[in-house]
Amino acid sequence: MNTRITHWANGADYIGAADRWGHVTNPATGQVTGHVALASQADADVVINAAAAAAKSWGTTSLARRTQIVFAFRELLNARKEELAAIITAEHGKVLSDALGEVARGQEVVEFACGISHLLKGGHSESVSTGVDVHSKRDPLGPVAVISPFNFPAMVPMWFFPIAIAAGNTIVLKPSEKDPSAANWIAALWTEAGLPDGVFNVLHGDKVAVDALLHSDKIQAVSFVGSTPIAEYVYEQASKTGKRVQALGGAKNHMVVLPDADLDLAADAAVSAGYGSAGERCMAISALVAVGPVADDLVARIADRTLTLVTGDGAPADGVEADMGPLVTREHRDRVASFIASGEEQGAKLVVDGRNVKPRGATDGFWIGPTLFDNVGVEMDIYTEEIFGPVLSVVRVETYADAVELINANPYGNGTAIFTNDGGAARRFEADVQVGMIGVNVPVPVPVAYYSFGGWKRSLFGDTHAHGVEGVHFFTRGKVVTSRWIDPANRPAGGLELGFPRNV
Ligand code: NAD
Repeated sequence: MNTRITHWANGADYIGAADRWGHVTNPATGQVTGHVALASQADADVVINAAAAAAKSWGTTSLARRTQIVFAFRELLNARKEELAAIITAEHGKVLSDALGEVARGQEVVEFACGISHLLKGGHSESVSTGVDVHSKRDPLGPVAVISPFNFPAMVPMWFFPIAIAAGNTIVLKPSEKDPSAANWIAALWTEAGLPDGVFNVLHGDKVAVDALLHSDKIQAVSFVGSTPIAEYVYEQASKTGKRVQALGGAKNHMVVLPDADLDLAADAAVSAGYGSAGERCMAISALVAVGPVADDLVARIADRTLTLVTGDGAPADGVEADMGPLVTREHRDRVASFIASGEEQGAKLVVDGRNVKPRGATDGFWIGPTLFDNVGVEMDIYTEEIFGPVLSVVRVETYADAVELINANPYGNGTAIFTNDGGAARRFEADVQVGMIGVNVPVPVPVAYYSFGGWKRSLFGDTHAHGVEGVHFFTRGKVVTSRWIDPANRPAGGLELGFPRNV
C-alpha cells in the first residue's frame, strides 16, 4: 500500500501543485506507506479561500441545523471509531487500544459541542436605564486554523474543531505531516454527516503551509499544539497579524511521591504515565520525584513492572496487542536513544535500558523499550530536555518543599501529579505548584471536555486554554447590544441632550 494523501477543500480531495511530497511511514515496520502533499503558498490560498467562502453562510446557519450536523458527526464517529484508530496506529505507531482511547477523548469534545446552543446563550437585562434594555451575544470569528502535532492526530484537532464548527466558524486543519491520514478521514466523515462544503478543510504540509496560515488576512484565529519553540513562533507571528491565538507547547511533567503514598499504586501509575504511547504524550510523566526514603523501594517496583511490558507492533497480525508501540520516526527514535546515552555519560544510574528491547514479532521499525534512570541530577540533559520517549527519570529529594521548588523552577507548567494518602498535603500541593493541570493520585490529569486543557509558563502561549467554556470563548467574539424602544403610549418629550447618561 502506498497512498497519496492530498489536501481537502470544498468537501473533496484537492491535489494542488503536487510538486513536493513527504513520506509517511508505518513506524512498526519502517516501511513507507504513503506520500503526503506538502502545500505551496498557492495551494494554501485555495484551501483558505474555501474556508473563507463558506464562512458567511455557515455562520448564519441556524443553531438547530448546526447542532444536528454535529450530532450526526458524533454518531458516525462512534459507529466507525475502529477505522480511525487503525489509521492512527498505522501512521503513529501507538497500540490500537490506546488509539481508541485517543478517539474517545476527542469524541468527548464533540459531545460537549452538541450542547453549543446552551453555551452560546447570552444575557439579557431589562430596563437598565429608563426604556433601555441590554443583551449580549457571541458571534463566530470566521475562518480559523488548527495546527496539530504528530502525537494525537485525531484527539488534538478534536480539542478545537467541534466547538469551532458548532459555534459557526469554518476550519483549515493543518495536521502533522508525519501522520496526516486521520485528518482526511475526519474530513470525509464531516461531509457524510451533512456539513456544507468548505466548512472543514485540510491543508497538508510543513513550514510553508503553517506560514501561509499565520500570514493570511482571511484566517481570524489560530489554535496550535506542538513543541515550545514552534508554539512561541506561531504565537508571535499570528499575534503580529492581529489574530487571536492559543499556542500549546511542550512539557516536562513531574510526579511527586510522598513517603506515605501507596507505593504499588504509585509504581503502577508511573509505569502507565511514563511508558504509555511510548512516552509520546505531552502529559506523560518524565520526572519522578521521590521524596525522603521512598526512592529505593519505588525504583525496584517500577523496574519489576517494566519487565512485564511487551513492546511490539500496535496492530499485530495475530491480534495479540503489545503494551507499547514504536516511536514515530527513525530520527525521533535515534534522538531518544542519544538522550539515554547522555544520561549514562552524565552520571545517572541506568536501571532499565530500552535500547536493548526485543519487539514482539517485529524486526525493522523504530524501537525503544521502557527505560528507567535513577539518581538523575537536575543539570543533566535527560532532566532539562523534553525527551518525548519512554524514559522515566527518578530525581531524589529530601522534602516536600524541595519537590515543589523543583516543579516551580521548571520552565514548563503543563501537568503534574502528587501521590499521597494525606489530603492536607495534596490540597497544599494544588495551591503551591505553578502548573495548569494537577493530578492527585492521578498521573495523567487530562481534563474532561467540559473543563479546559492547558498549561502554564512555556507550555502555553496565549491566554485561552483548549475546549470547555474557554474553548467556546476562543472561537466566538462577544457583542453587547443596548436598545431603546419607545413605548408608543408613553412617548418621551425628546429634545437634545449632550451630557453623558446619568443612569436614571
Ligand atoms: P512540532 O512542533 O514539531 O510540530 C507541530 C506542528 O508544527 C506540525 O503541524 C508541524 O508541521 C508544524 N511545524 C513543525 N516545524 C515547524 C516550523 N519550523 N515552522 C512552522 N511550523 C512547523 O511538534 P511535534 O513533534 O509534532 O509534536 C510533539 C510536541 O508537541 C511535543 O513537544 C509535545 O509536548 C507537544 N504537545 C503539546 C501538547 C499540549 O497540549 N501542550 C499536546 C500534544 C503535543
